[in-house]
Amino acid sequence: MSRSTPKNSVDREAFRDMCRKFAQVEIGPRWQEADRESKFPMPFYHAACKAGLIGLHSPEALGGAALGVTEEAIAIEEQAKVNPNLAIMALIQGVAGGLLADHGRDIHHQIARANIAGECLLALAVTEPEAGSDVQNVKTSARRDGDDWILNGIKSFITLGGDCDVMMVLAQTDPSKGRHGMQFFAVDRRSPGVTTPQIKTYANRPLPTYRVMFDEVRVPDARRLDAGFGAIMAGFNRERVMVCARWLGHMQTAYAWALEYAKTRQQFGRPIGANQSIAFQLAQSHVDVEASRLYTYHAASRWDSGLPIQDIITDVSSAKLFVTQAVYRVTQIALHIGGGWGITEELPVMRMALDALVAPVTVGAYEIQLRVIAKQLGLPVD
Ligand SMILES: Cc1cc2nc3c(=O)[nH]c(=O)nc-3n(C[C@H](O)[C@H](O)[C@H](O)COP(=O)(O)OP(=O)(O)OC[C@H]3O[C@@H](n4cnc5c(N)ncnc54)[C@H](O)[C@@H]3O)c2cc1C
Repeated sequence: MSRSTPKNSVDREAFRDMCRKFAQVEIGPRWQEADRESKFPMPFYHAACKAGLIGLHSPEALGGAALGVTEEAIAIEEQAKVNPNLAIMALIQGVAGGLLADHGRDIHHQIARANIAGECLLALAVTEPEAGSDVQNVKTSARRDGDDWILNGIKSFITLGGDCDVMMVLAQTDPSKGRHGMQFFAVDRRSPGVTTPQIKTYANRPLPTYRVMFDEVRVPDARRLDAGFGAIMAGFNRERVMVCARWLGHMQTAYAWALEYAKTRQQFGRPIGANQSIAFQLAQSHVDVEASRLYTYHAASRWDSGLPIQDIITDVSSAKLFVTQAVYRVTQIALHIGGGWGITEELPVMRMALDALVAPVTVGAYEIQLRVIAKQLGLPVD
Protein backbone atom coordinates (compact mmCIF):
# COMPACT_ATOMS: atom_id res chain seq x y z
CA MET A 1 0.00 0.00 0.00
CA SER A 2 1.39 3.45 -0.89
CA ARG A 3 0.09 6.83 0.11
CA SER A 4 -0.12 10.18 -1.62
CA THR A 5 2.20 12.99 -0.55
CA PRO A 6 0.74 16.18 0.99
CA LYS A 7 -0.82 18.55 -1.58
CA ASN A 8 -0.21 21.81 0.30
CA SER A 9 2.52 23.31 2.43
CA VAL A 10 2.75 26.14 4.96
CA ASP A 11 5.43 28.24 6.60
CA ARG A 12 6.03 25.81 9.45
CA GLU A 13 7.33 28.34 11.98
CA ALA A 14 4.34 30.65 11.44
CA PHE A 15 2.04 27.62 11.66
CA ARG A 16 3.71 26.54 14.92
CA ASP A 17 3.20 30.05 16.34
CA MET A 18 -0.48 29.96 15.41
CA CYS A 19 -0.91 26.54 17.09
CA ARG A 20 0.92 27.73 20.20
CA LYS A 21 -1.37 30.75 20.54
CA PHE A 22 -4.44 28.59 19.90
CA ALA A 23 -3.38 26.21 22.68
CA GLN A 24 -2.77 29.01 25.16
CA VAL A 25 -6.15 30.62 24.48
CA GLU A 26 -8.34 27.55 23.96
CA ILE A 27 -6.75 24.85 26.13
CA GLY A 28 -5.09 26.90 28.88
CA PRO A 29 -8.31 28.10 30.55
CA ARG A 30 -10.21 24.83 29.96
CA TRP A 31 -8.15 21.80 30.82
CA GLN A 32 -8.13 21.95 34.62
CA GLU A 33 -11.90 21.98 34.99
CA ALA A 34 -12.20 19.26 32.32
CA ASP A 35 -9.64 17.19 34.25
CA ARG A 36 -11.43 17.68 37.58
CA GLU A 37 -14.80 16.72 36.14
CA SER A 38 -13.68 14.06 33.61
CA LYS A 39 -15.77 15.90 31.06
CA PHE A 40 -14.87 16.86 27.52
CA PRO A 41 -15.38 20.60 26.89
CA MET A 42 -17.37 20.62 23.64
CA PRO A 43 -16.60 24.31 22.85
CA PHE A 44 -12.98 23.20 22.41
CA TYR A 45 -13.96 21.08 19.39
CA HIS A 46 -15.78 24.04 17.84
CA ALA A 47 -12.80 26.32 18.48
CA ALA A 48 -10.40 23.82 16.88
CA CYS A 49 -12.61 23.61 13.78
CA LYS A 50 -12.82 27.39 13.57
CA ALA A 51 -9.02 27.63 13.77
CA GLY A 52 -8.71 25.11 10.91
CA LEU A 53 -7.05 22.48 13.11
CA ILE A 54 -9.50 19.68 12.32
CA GLY A 55 -8.98 18.00 8.96
CA LEU A 56 -5.41 19.22 8.51
CA HIS A 57 -4.61 16.06 6.56
CA SER A 58 -7.99 15.76 4.77
CA PRO A 59 -8.59 16.67 1.12
CA GLU A 60 -9.65 20.23 0.32
CA ALA A 61 -12.83 18.90 -1.33
CA LEU A 62 -13.98 17.87 2.16
CA GLY A 63 -13.00 21.19 3.73
CA GLY A 64 -9.58 19.94 4.85
CA ALA A 65 -6.18 21.57 4.45
CA ALA A 66 -4.43 18.70 2.59
CA LEU A 67 -1.30 19.23 4.69
CA GLY A 68 1.16 16.57 5.78
CA VAL A 69 1.55 14.50 8.91
CA THR A 70 4.43 16.83 9.82
CA GLU A 71 2.00 19.76 10.18
CA GLU A 72 -0.42 17.56 12.13
CA ALA A 73 2.44 16.67 14.46
CA ILE A 74 3.39 20.33 14.94
CA ALA A 75 -0.23 21.17 15.85
CA ILE A 76 -0.46 18.33 18.36
CA GLU A 77 2.95 19.01 19.90
CA GLU A 78 2.08 22.65 20.57
CA GLN A 79 -1.30 21.78 22.05
CA ALA A 80 0.20 19.00 24.17
CA LYS A 81 2.62 21.45 25.75
CA VAL A 82 -0.47 22.91 27.45
CA ASN A 83 -2.40 19.66 27.92
CA PRO A 84 -1.62 16.26 26.39
CA ASN A 85 -5.21 15.05 26.56
CA LEU A 86 -7.18 17.79 24.85
CA ALA A 87 -4.33 17.86 22.30
CA ILE A 88 -5.34 14.47 20.92
CA MET A 89 -8.95 15.34 20.22
CA ALA A 90 -7.76 16.40 16.76
CA LEU A 91 -5.86 13.12 16.38
CA ILE A 92 -9.02 11.06 16.92
CA GLN A 93 -10.92 13.26 14.47
CA GLY A 94 -8.06 12.78 11.99
CA VAL A 95 -8.00 8.98 12.18
CA ALA A 96 -11.80 8.51 12.20
CA GLY A 97 -12.21 11.22 9.54
CA GLY A 98 -9.39 9.66 7.50
CA LEU A 99 -11.36 6.41 7.25
CA LEU A 100 -14.37 8.35 5.94
CA ALA A 101 -12.28 10.42 3.52
CA ASP A 102 -10.12 7.59 2.18
CA HIS A 103 -12.55 4.67 2.09
CA GLY A 104 -16.02 6.23 2.05
CA ARG A 105 -18.61 7.16 -0.54
CA ASP A 106 -20.69 10.36 -0.81
CA ILE A 107 -22.66 9.76 2.36
CA HIS A 108 -19.44 9.19 4.32
CA HIS A 109 -17.84 12.27 2.79
CA GLN A 110 -20.80 14.31 4.05
CA ILE A 111 -20.01 13.16 7.58
CA ALA A 112 -16.32 14.00 7.10
CA ARG A 113 -17.29 17.46 5.84
CA ALA A 114 -19.58 18.03 8.83
CA ASN A 115 -16.78 16.88 11.14
CA ILE A 116 -14.34 19.44 9.75
CA ALA A 117 -17.03 22.15 9.85
CA GLY A 118 -17.58 21.60 13.59
CA GLU A 119 -20.98 19.90 13.26
CA CYS A 120 -20.13 16.27 13.92
CA LEU A 121 -17.70 15.05 16.59
CA LEU A 122 -16.26 11.63 15.76
CA ALA A 123 -15.02 8.69 17.83
CA LEU A 124 -13.14 5.56 16.80
CA ALA A 125 -14.50 2.30 18.25
CA VAL A 126 -12.11 -0.61 17.74
CA THR A 127 -11.05 -1.98 21.15
CA GLU A 128 -13.19 -4.53 23.00
CA PRO A 129 -12.92 -6.10 26.46
CA GLU A 130 -11.30 -9.21 24.91
CA ALA A 131 -9.69 -7.49 21.92
CA GLY A 132 -7.15 -4.90 23.07
CA SER A 133 -3.73 -5.46 21.52
CA ASP A 134 -5.24 -8.35 19.55
CA VAL A 135 -7.49 -6.39 17.17
CA GLN A 136 -8.03 -9.54 15.09
CA ASN A 137 -10.19 -10.83 17.94
CA VAL A 138 -12.91 -8.17 17.48
CA LYS A 139 -16.26 -9.87 18.14
CA THR A 140 -18.82 -7.08 17.71
CA SER A 141 -21.11 -8.54 15.08
CA ALA A 142 -23.01 -7.02 12.18
CA ARG A 143 -25.74 -9.17 10.64
CA ARG A 144 -27.53 -8.28 7.42
CA ASP A 145 -31.24 -7.49 7.61
CA GLY A 146 -32.66 -6.15 4.33
CA ASP A 147 -31.12 -2.76 3.61
CA ASP A 148 -29.74 -2.56 7.14
CA TRP A 149 -27.21 -4.22 9.40
CA ILE A 150 -27.87 -5.12 13.05
CA LEU A 151 -24.96 -4.51 15.41
CA ASN A 152 -24.40 -6.33 18.71
CA GLY A 153 -21.38 -6.23 21.01
CA ILE A 154 -19.32 -4.18 23.43
CA LYS A 155 -16.46 -1.77 22.77
CA SER A 156 -14.22 -0.52 25.57
CA PHE A 157 -12.00 2.51 26.15
CA ILE A 158 -13.69 4.51 23.40
CA THR A 159 -12.42 8.07 23.74
CA LEU A 160 -15.31 10.53 23.32
CA GLY A 161 -17.65 7.52 22.89
CA GLY A 162 -20.36 9.22 24.99
CA ASP A 163 -19.71 12.71 23.59
CA CYS A 164 -19.49 12.10 19.86
CA ASP A 165 -22.19 12.39 17.21
CA VAL A 166 -20.92 9.54 15.03
CA MET A 167 -18.53 6.70 15.83
CA MET A 168 -16.57 4.55 13.42
CA VAL A 169 -17.25 1.01 14.64
CA LEU A 170 -15.20 -2.00 13.56
CA ALA A 171 -17.47 -5.06 13.38
CA GLN A 172 -17.44 -8.63 12.04
CA THR A 173 -19.68 -9.01 9.00
CA ASP A 174 -18.34 -12.46 8.07
CA PRO A 175 -16.66 -14.32 10.95
CA SER A 176 -15.63 -17.18 8.60
CA LYS A 177 -13.11 -14.76 7.02
CA GLY A 178 -11.50 -13.72 10.33
CA ARG A 179 -9.85 -10.31 10.13
CA HIS A 180 -10.74 -10.08 6.41
CA GLY A 181 -14.43 -10.28 7.38
CA MET A 182 -14.37 -7.00 9.33
CA GLN A 183 -15.83 -3.70 8.17
CA PHE A 184 -16.36 -0.23 9.57
CA PHE A 185 -19.78 1.31 10.12
CA ALA A 186 -20.44 5.01 10.72
CA VAL A 187 -22.93 4.70 13.59
CA ASP A 188 -24.98 7.56 15.08
CA ARG A 189 -24.21 7.59 18.78
CA ARG A 190 -27.87 8.43 19.53
CA SER A 191 -29.21 5.35 17.66
CA PRO A 192 -31.67 3.21 19.66
CA GLY A 193 -29.76 0.38 21.39
CA VAL A 194 -26.48 2.30 21.89
CA THR A 195 -25.49 2.95 25.53
CA THR A 196 -22.28 4.61 26.65
CA PRO A 197 -21.36 4.38 30.35
CA GLN A 198 -18.13 6.23 31.16
CA ILE A 199 -15.02 4.33 32.29
CA LYS A 200 -13.53 6.25 35.19
CA THR A 201 -9.76 6.71 34.85
CA TYR A 202 -7.04 8.32 36.96
CA ALA A 203 -5.39 9.84 33.89
CA ASN A 204 -6.47 11.25 30.54
CA ARG A 205 -9.58 12.73 32.13
CA PRO A 206 -10.36 15.76 29.92
CA LEU A 207 -10.89 13.32 27.06
CA PRO A 208 -13.05 10.65 28.76
CA THR A 209 -13.26 7.05 27.64
CA TYR A 210 -16.45 4.99 27.50
CA ARG A 211 -17.74 1.46 27.26
CA VAL A 212 -19.98 1.47 24.19
CA MET A 213 -22.68 -1.20 24.09
CA PHE A 214 -24.64 -2.18 20.99
CA ASP A 215 -27.89 -4.03 21.53
CA GLU A 216 -29.65 -4.81 18.22
CA VAL A 217 -28.56 -1.45 16.76
CA ARG A 218 -29.93 -0.90 13.25
CA VAL A 219 -27.50 0.75 10.80
CA PRO A 220 -28.30 1.40 7.12
CA ASP A 221 -26.06 -0.41 4.62
CA ALA A 222 -25.15 3.01 3.20
CA ARG A 223 -23.25 3.67 6.46
CA ARG A 224 -20.94 0.67 5.88
CA LEU A 225 -17.43 1.33 4.58
CA ASP A 226 -15.51 -0.98 2.28
CA ALA A 227 -12.68 -0.91 4.79
CA GLY A 228 -11.85 -2.88 7.90
CA PHE A 229 -8.81 -4.38 9.60
CA GLY A 230 -6.22 -3.33 6.97
CA ALA A 231 -7.46 0.26 6.91
CA ILE A 232 -7.26 0.66 10.67
CA MET A 233 -3.79 -0.86 10.82
CA ALA A 234 -2.63 1.82 8.34
CA GLY A 235 -4.53 4.44 10.38
CA PHE A 236 -2.81 3.26 13.58
CA ASN A 237 0.59 3.87 12.00
CA ARG A 238 -0.32 7.48 11.31
CA GLU A 239 -1.84 7.75 14.79
CA ARG A 240 1.44 6.52 16.27
CA VAL A 241 3.32 9.48 14.79
CA MET A 242 0.72 11.83 16.31
CA VAL A 243 1.03 10.06 19.64
CA CYS A 244 4.79 10.76 19.53
CA ALA A 245 4.06 14.45 18.98
CA ARG A 246 1.65 14.39 21.90
CA TRP A 247 4.19 12.99 24.34
CA LEU A 248 6.98 15.14 22.91
CA GLY A 249 4.92 18.24 23.77
CA HIS A 250 4.06 16.90 27.21
CA MET A 251 7.63 15.96 28.14
CA GLN A 252 8.94 19.42 27.15
CA THR A 253 6.60 21.04 29.67
CA ALA A 254 7.59 18.58 32.41
CA TYR A 255 11.28 19.04 31.63
CA ALA A 256 11.06 22.85 31.56
CA TRP A 257 9.24 22.81 34.89
CA ALA A 258 11.81 20.49 36.51
CA LEU A 259 14.76 22.50 35.19
CA GLU A 260 13.36 25.74 36.57
CA TYR A 261 12.49 24.14 39.91
CA ALA A 262 15.98 22.62 40.25
CA LYS A 263 17.51 26.05 39.65
CA THR A 264 15.30 27.86 42.16
CA ARG A 265 14.44 25.40 44.94
CA GLN A 266 16.99 25.91 47.73
CA GLN A 267 18.09 23.23 50.19
CA PHE A 268 21.31 23.21 52.24
CA GLY A 269 21.80 26.81 51.16
CA ARG A 270 22.03 26.16 47.42
CA PRO A 271 19.76 25.17 44.52
CA ILE A 272 18.96 21.46 44.49
CA GLY A 273 20.21 21.46 40.87
CA ALA A 274 23.73 22.09 42.21
CA ASN A 275 23.75 18.45 43.33
CA GLN A 276 25.21 16.22 40.67
CA SER A 277 22.55 13.53 41.19
CA ILE A 278 19.77 16.02 40.33
CA ALA A 279 21.74 17.75 37.55
CA PHE A 280 22.49 14.43 35.84
CA GLN A 281 18.82 13.45 35.83
CA LEU A 282 18.02 16.72 34.09
CA ALA A 283 20.81 16.13 31.59
CA GLN A 284 19.22 12.75 30.87
CA SER A 285 15.83 14.46 30.38
CA HIS A 286 17.40 16.94 27.98
CA VAL A 287 18.70 14.05 25.86
CA ASP A 288 15.29 12.33 26.01
CA VAL A 289 13.53 15.47 24.78
CA GLU A 290 15.95 16.10 21.91
CA ALA A 291 16.03 12.45 20.83
CA SER A 292 12.21 12.32 20.95
CA ARG A 293 12.03 15.41 18.75
CA LEU A 294 14.32 13.79 16.17
CA TYR A 295 12.44 10.50 16.26
CA THR A 296 9.01 12.14 15.97
CA TYR A 297 9.79 14.38 13.02
CA HIS A 298 11.84 11.71 11.29
CA ALA A 299 8.81 9.38 11.40
CA ALA A 300 6.53 12.24 10.22
CA SER A 301 8.75 13.08 7.26
CA ARG A 302 8.99 9.40 6.29
CA TRP A 303 5.20 9.27 6.33
CA ASP A 304 4.92 12.43 4.21
CA SER A 305 7.39 11.00 1.67
CA GLY A 306 4.56 8.78 0.38
CA LEU A 307 6.62 5.59 0.70
CA PRO A 308 4.68 2.32 1.16
CA ILE A 309 3.75 1.70 4.80
CA GLN A 310 5.92 -1.40 4.80
CA ASP A 311 8.98 0.81 4.26
CA ILE A 312 8.27 3.18 7.15
CA ILE A 313 6.80 0.84 9.73
CA THR A 314 10.12 0.38 11.59
CA ASP A 315 10.64 4.16 11.82
CA VAL A 316 7.13 4.68 13.18
CA SER A 317 7.23 1.84 15.72
CA SER A 318 10.77 2.77 16.87
CA ALA A 319 9.65 6.36 17.41
CA LYS A 320 6.51 5.26 19.30
CA LEU A 321 8.56 2.91 21.46
CA PHE A 322 11.26 5.45 22.30
CA VAL A 323 9.11 8.53 22.85
CA THR A 324 6.54 6.79 25.06
CA GLN A 325 9.33 5.45 27.27
CA ALA A 326 11.08 8.82 27.29
CA VAL A 327 8.00 10.70 28.49
CA TYR A 328 7.73 8.24 31.36
CA ARG A 329 11.36 8.90 32.37
CA VAL A 330 11.10 12.68 32.02
CA THR A 331 7.88 12.98 34.04
CA GLN A 332 9.13 10.60 36.75
CA ILE A 333 12.29 12.71 37.10
CA ALA A 334 10.17 15.88 37.32
CA LEU A 335 8.03 14.25 40.00
CA HIS A 336 11.13 13.17 41.93
CA ILE A 337 12.62 16.66 41.73
CA GLY A 338 9.35 18.07 43.12
CA GLY A 339 9.98 16.10 46.35
CA GLY A 340 7.01 15.99 48.74
CA TRP A 341 5.51 19.03 47.05
CA GLY A 342 5.53 17.07 43.82
CA ILE A 343 2.55 14.96 44.87
CA THR A 344 0.45 17.93 46.00
CA GLU A 345 -2.07 19.79 43.90
CA GLU A 346 0.07 22.90 44.42
CA LEU A 347 2.56 21.71 41.80
CA PRO A 348 1.68 20.39 38.32
CA VAL A 349 4.01 17.37 38.24
CA MET A 350 1.86 14.61 39.72
CA ARG A 351 -0.77 15.34 37.09
CA MET A 352 1.92 15.21 34.38
CA ALA A 353 3.34 11.92 35.66
CA LEU A 354 -0.13 10.36 35.92
CA ASP A 355 -1.05 11.34 32.37
CA ALA A 356 2.22 9.95 31.03
CA LEU A 357 1.50 6.49 32.50
CA VAL A 358 -0.85 5.73 29.63
CA ALA A 359 1.77 6.57 26.97
CA PRO A 360 3.17 3.07 26.34
CA VAL A 361 -0.29 1.46 26.30
CA THR A 362 -2.46 3.14 23.69
CA VAL A 363 -2.27 2.72 19.90
CA GLY A 364 -0.17 -0.42 20.15
CA ALA A 365 1.41 -1.20 23.52
CA TYR A 366 5.15 -1.36 24.25
CA GLU A 367 5.51 -5.08 23.52
CA ILE A 368 3.48 -4.72 20.34
CA GLN A 369 5.94 -2.14 18.98
CA LEU A 370 8.86 -4.43 19.88
CA ARG A 371 7.09 -7.26 18.06
CA VAL A 372 6.56 -5.09 14.95
CA ILE A 373 10.23 -4.05 14.91
CA ALA A 374 11.47 -7.60 15.50
CA LYS A 375 9.33 -8.85 12.59
CA GLN A 376 10.71 -6.11 10.34
CA LEU A 377 14.19 -7.30 11.30
CA GLY A 378 13.27 -10.69 9.83
CA LEU A 379 13.07 -12.48 13.18
CA PRO A 380 10.60 -15.41 13.25
CA VAL A 381 8.33 -14.03 16.01
CA ASP A 382 4.67 -14.99 15.72
C1 LIG B 1 -6.94 6.41 27.72
C2 LIG B 1 -7.22 5.41 26.65
C3 LIG B 1 -7.87 5.82 25.50
C4 LIG B 1 -8.18 4.88 24.50
N1 LIG B 1 -8.89 5.29 23.39
C5 LIG B 1 -9.31 4.35 22.50
C6 LIG B 1 -10.19 4.71 21.41
O1 LIG B 1 -10.56 5.88 21.25
N2 LIG B 1 -10.61 3.74 20.56
C7 LIG B 1 -10.23 2.43 20.70
O2 LIG B 1 -10.65 1.61 19.89
N3 LIG B 1 -9.39 2.07 21.71
C8 LIG B 1 -8.94 2.98 22.62
N4 LIG B 1 -8.11 2.62 23.66
C9 LIG B 1 -7.72 1.22 23.80
C10 LIG B 1 -6.24 0.98 23.60
O3 LIG B 1 -5.92 1.03 22.24
C11 LIG B 1 -5.94 -0.39 24.27
O4 LIG B 1 -5.94 -0.13 25.66
C12 LIG B 1 -4.65 -0.99 23.81
O5 LIG B 1 -4.79 -1.47 22.51
C13 LIG B 1 -4.21 -2.13 24.73
O6 LIG B 1 -5.25 -3.04 24.93
P1 LIG B 1 -5.62 -3.52 26.44
O7 LIG B 1 -5.76 -2.31 27.27
O8 LIG B 1 -6.78 -4.44 26.36
O9 LIG B 1 -4.33 -4.28 26.93
P2 LIG B 1 -3.92 -5.81 26.59
O10 LIG B 1 -3.95 -6.02 25.11
O11 LIG B 1 -4.70 -6.73 27.45
O12 LIG B 1 -2.41 -5.81 27.04
C14 LIG B 1 -2.03 -5.92 28.42
C15 LIG B 1 -0.52 -6.03 28.49
O13 LIG B 1 -0.09 -7.23 27.83
C16 LIG B 1 0.86 -6.91 26.82
N5 LIG B 1 0.68 -7.79 25.64
C17 LIG B 1 -0.43 -7.98 24.89
N6 LIG B 1 -0.18 -8.83 23.89
C18 LIG B 1 1.13 -9.18 23.98
C19 LIG B 1 2.02 -10.02 23.22
N7 LIG B 1 1.61 -10.67 22.14
N8 LIG B 1 3.31 -10.13 23.63
C20 LIG B 1 3.75 -9.48 24.75
N9 LIG B 1 2.96 -8.67 25.49
C21 LIG B 1 1.69 -8.51 25.12
C22 LIG B 1 0.59 -5.45 26.44
O14 LIG B 1 1.72 -4.83 25.89
C23 LIG B 1 0.18 -4.86 27.78
O15 LIG B 1 1.33 -4.49 28.50
C24 LIG B 1 -7.78 3.53 24.66
C25 LIG B 1 -7.10 3.14 25.81
C26 LIG B 1 -6.83 4.05 26.81
C27 LIG B 1 -6.13 3.58 28.07
